[in-house]
Amino acid sequence: MSNSSTGYVYTVKQLRDHRTQQSYRNPHYVVAKFGDDAEPSDVYDVILPGTPGKNLYCNCPGFHRQKAPKETHKHIRLVKLFVELGEPAGAVFEIEPDGSPKLVGNLLEG
Ligand SMILES: [Zn+2]
Repeated sequence: MSNSSTGYVYTVKQLRDHRTQQSYRNPHYVVAKFGDDAEPSDVYDVILPGTPGKNLYCNCPGFHRQKAPKETHKHIRLVKLFVELGEPAGAVFEIEPDGSPKLVGNLLEG
């Protein structure tokens, strides 16, 4: 995997209900952050609420500290891009220093 300016790449996967294989009402995503190792250096849980009144959620410490609107949180933006792209399996992303996510490749396409 290529190294980015920040040195990390990310993959995203939607968690489905293990019995029905359907999406959860409030879709759950797992963001894995990779440095130089095959194992992720961090894993984050992100929820994009489908139910009115529910809030965006990321379990990283930065999300809770962030004063700016939660929509601008980098892991939220990353997952939203993943969804916009149709949730491509194997997609690999970088996050620019300003927090913008960028698609950089796909593990399944070599
Ligand atoms: Zn986060």
